[in-house]
Amino acid sequence: MTIATNIRTIESQLPDRTKLIAVTKTKPVALLQEAYDAGCRRFGENKVQEMVEKQPQLPSDIEWHLIGHLQTNKVKYIAPFVGLIHSVDSLKLLQEINKQASRHQRVIDCLLQIHIAEEETKFGFDETQAHSLLNSPELESLTSVRVVGLMGMATNTDDETQIRQEFRRLKQLYDQLSGLQRPNVRFRELSMGMSSDYLIAIEEGSTMVRVGSAIFGTRN
Ligand SMILES: *Cc1c(COP(=O)(O)O)cnc(C)c1O
Repeated sequence: MTIATNIRTIESQLPDRTKLIAVTKTKPVALLQEAYDAGCRRFGENKVQEMVEKQPQLPSDIEWHLIGHLQTNKVKYIAPFVGLIHSVDSLKLLQEINKQASRHQRVIDCLLQIHIAEEETKFGFDETQAHSLLNSPELESLTSVRVVGLMGMATNTDDETQIRQEFRRLKQLYDQLSGLQRPNVRFRELSMGMSSDYLIAIEEGSTMVRVGSAIFGTRN
């Protein structure tokens, strides 16, 4: 299977509301160019350095999505061009994104990463924390960021029922938080689904699937 065929297959499975983010981490720019030539315009990377290296080597109409954990001291490198940050997991990080965005006269769209999987991880808010961040007075002053939705990763398991439940829970939280009336909160994206579970994710309301290996093959 070629990259172009894989992209076409996946695109044909997506409802109109759902966008494909081609996850290009560890892949050389030649393969990203191939995906671009097949029509992809949204690329996801999980490391700042890799994104910063690849971005200038590829066409300028690509929208770059940061999907991995972001350290505050690295925000400055991606602030000039990043399209969407999926992995905001603290107020401190949001404040730094705001600061760097304003230096570039930009407003950077962000998603809050929500911890929905069973596995232990340091990253992501729980539901209470997400509510309190989106209701906190501090948010008002962050005029160079816009929180446009949520991102989550389901447990790495073969149990489809469990995966579906985790996505469903995230969609419920998304629906609750969508009602918030705050100047820099405007929910429109729910980023959930990867190669192994994107079909379940779209059934549960995903608007963005982040797909790597199903396009480019397995990573070493
Ligand atoms: C790597 C990665 C993906 C894509 O994973 P695949 O299984 O290759 O589709 C999606 N989301 C995040 C956050 C990732 O780090």
